[in-house]
Amino acid sequence: MTILVLAEHQDTQLDDATAKAISAAGRIGGEVHVLVAGSGCQAAAEAAAGLAGVARVLLADGPSLSNRLAEPVAALIVSLAGGYDAVLAPSTTSGRNILPRVAALLDVMQISDVVAIDGPDLFQRPIYAGNVIQTVRSTDAKKVLSVRASSFPAASVAAAAVPVEAVAIPENPGRSSFVRSELSRSERPELAGARIVVSGGRALSSAENFETVLAPLADTLGAAIGASRAAVDAGYVSNDLQVGQTGKIIAPDLYIACGISGAIQHLAGMKDSRVIVAINKDPDAPIFQVADYGLVADLFEAVPEFHAAVAEG
Ligand code: FAD
Repeated sequence: MTILVLAEHQDTQLDDATAKAISAAGRIGGEVHVLVAGSGCQAAAEAAAGLAGVARVLLADGPSLSNRLAEPVAALIVSLAGGYDAVLAPSTTSGRNILPRVAALLDVMQISDVVAIDGPDLFQRPIYAGNVIQTVRSTDAKKVLSVRASSFPAASVAAAAVPVEAVAIPENPGRSSFVRSELSRSERPELAGARIVVSGGRALSSAENFETVLAPLADTLGAAIGASRAAVDAGYVSNDLQVGQTGKIIAPDLYIACGISGAIQHLAGMKDSRVIVAINKDPDAPIFQVADYGLVADLFEAVPEFHAAVAEG
């Protein structure tokens, strides 16, 4: 089999999700090629070429691919798909935007959010907010898969880099144009890739409490801040910090849930974290069922105490 992995990158930098998608692709068995599509993205292509398990890197570098709009990227993948048995991308915002178009244009089923690969046509994926793992056998001649990056280890650095080859870019279908992007800038690590996440729920009661109670702990730990949907809906933090079924699905080494009840939709986004710590004043809160360490306490007392202890070292 030959597998094409669509790289997730910021032109000059390859995202960690790509290295994880490459290791997922390796589990299908066969030759793994990486497609780096963008504008001014040679550096990302070279980074991909240095990862273990990559046999070829295809570079599509042109103005029509700047901002990676789904329509031109999907047209590019379809133009290359003849040579591939599977097309795979991380299940990120852009992967989820591009792959369904590829699947539709190829007239095959997309298999979304793959968390384990048991063979060339056998894939596991969560359903019902992660409460059931479904095993899917695909009979499509070409597989189109989005993979949950947090479920796979990152490919390591290779002993020697493979060459980067330029590929032709098909005509832009011209159905979309880039208007602007508004990125929230933060000194903290990005939620999706953070090793430690300090997360707050409705109990925080205000945006100010997120800043004065949770942020000091997060900053001392070098952690990202996350939130439940109730906290996002109440306007305490922006919605890019939402963890859960309709937010980000993450699996950090340490997830600290403060004043979060543990609704199944929230658990769907964080229950694969390596270690879960929960602080909640209700001993029956469902979050304690998934927590490795639980503290029944008022977060407004426990979190500052926790912070003071961590800061003291
Ligand atoms: P609550 O459920 O109100 O819990 C607050 C908790 O704080 C309680 O357990 C309480 O005991 C505790 N508490 C209160 N005061 C203190 C204190 N001083 N100290 C310590 N503990 C205290 N939710 C998500 O999070 N992410 C999603 O992606 C998501 N997607 C959804 C999708 C759908 C289709 C639906 C229907 C719902 C979704 N939800 C999601 C909402 C979810 O069902 C819950 O409503 C939400 O997670 C609750 O947030 P919470 O735990 O902050 O609030």
